[in-house]
Amino acid sequence: MTVRTRFAPSPTGDVHIWSLRTALYCYLWSHHNNGKFILRIEDTDQTRLVEGSIERIIEVLTRMGVSPDEGPQHDGGYGPYIQSHRLPIYAERLHKLVEEGSAYYCFCTSERLDALRTEQEELKLPPRYDGHCRHVPLEEACERIAKWEKYTIRLKVPKWEKILFNDAIRGRIEFNSSETDDCVLMKSDGIPTYHGAVVIDDHLMEITHVMRGEEWISSIPKQVLTARALGITLPEYAHMPNILGADGKKLSKRTGDTSAEIYLEKGYLPDALLNFIALLGWHPKSDQEILTMEELIEKFDIHDIHKAGAVFDPIKLDWMNGEYIKVLSTEELHTKLSIYLHKYENEFFTTVYSKAEWSTNEKILNELKGRMKRFNEYRELTKFFYGAAQIRPDLLVNPKMKIETLEDARASLELGRTVLARTDFSSLDTIKEPIIAAISEAGKKNWQVLWPIRVALSGEEFSPGAFELAYILGKEKSIERIDRILAKLS
Ligand code: GLU
Repeated sequence: MTVRTRFAPSPTGDVHIWSLRTALYCYLWSHHNNGKFILRIEDTDQTRLVEGSIERIIEVLTRMGVSPDEGPQHDGGYGPYIQSHRLPIYAERLHKLVEEGSAYYCFCTSERLDALRTEQEELKLPPRYDGHCRHVPLEEACERIAKWEKYTIRLKVPKWEKILFNDAIRGRIEFNSSETDDCVLMKSDGIPTYHGAVVIDDHLMEITHVMRGEEWISSIPKQVLTARALGITLPEYAHMPNILGADGKKLSKRTGDTSAEIYLEKGYLPDALLNFIALLGWHPKSDQEILTMEELIEKFDIHDIHKAGAVFDPIKLDWMNGEYIKVLSTEELHTKLSIYLHKYENEFFTTVYSKAEWSTNEKILNELKGRMKRFNEYRELTKFFYGAAQIRPDLLVNPKMKIETLEDARASLELGRTVLARTDFSSLDTIKEPIIAAISEAGKKNWQVLWPIRVALSGEEFSPGAFELAYILGKEKSIERIDRILAKLS
């Protein structure tokens, strides 16, 4: 058996983090089994369509490195892969269900259905169809259809039947058919409902495993009964836990960004984001947290997906992204950062980053590699390298650093300046050694001199250390910045 998984989003706008997780798990499980990963677009609810969504879905999957093997762009012989292009396929099968007696034509108008719902609401009864057209003889129904009466197709749900279902994650789930009404499989416009289409498509596309959010569990009875009516076997299902926000509820805009694209926009590396998402609801048997795509594919098992909801922890995501950045070579980091800046911070990229000398960028990247968590921090973290530094005498006095007065600071700056003026700037070490020697000769503590130099060079309360700053800025700029703050002091 070839394992075939499918990611079946509705094209309704953003690709959410939980959708990306579904796509990733489908990708991992199919690749783990040398199978196929299918993208199917579920656009039967035409009222919710958002233009451009299909392109966005494909773009996100491609950028994240989880491209489908089959889908709207790659026909693997099971197409079309967009449900609205498959209408004759559904029509044929759903009308056949009516002929066979497991579904029926329903002529109830929306006015009648609305009135029924209102009545049920008033009586505090669950809203459900009352089976009004269930017993209309087929012959009579066909005559009404021939006279252009509008109709839908409804599934004939048996009364009081126990439905057993086995979920790969949750095990045995039991339903009673009485909880389900005669649901619509095909709407009056000839478009199937989600339930009508999904079972047929999973069957025709030979899907072996369905992974989807736990909110779909409630649709299981309908799908089991529809499959039985169609005479087909359902794939294996794994209903995945919700991704939770810090408040313990399903992640929502209130507790975090939900759109996958926003995370790319913030400068998370696709590999890191995937790694992070993979662990929202699954974990390898070991404690390993950083996993390459190959390792994820090797270790992932649909049966090990957790039952309990997984909390989306942005601090962990930052940490993980930082770990991915740390191990990049400077050239790789430069390439990825350039692509990011070009796309999201174009003006900074064209007027600043791409204009700077490679040796400057290289030094900055080396310095930031161990600290930068996301690419959208780059500009802020480097503003005093590419642009002017603020002159902040107010930061100079710092009792913790044993700098009690501006006079102390000035003496330290002058010492530093004198040494730097005759220092060789060709490496961090050649800068470090003479300064450290001079500080000890003057009987001072390192930070008494390094703090004011750092303040002079960066103009910030927090920044890389004095040596790193001097090395990146070069001799001329370093001296100039010390002189500027000294001038302010006199
Ligand atoms: N089209 C559904 C969605 O938008 C997917 C349901 C399923 O995977 O069966 O989430």
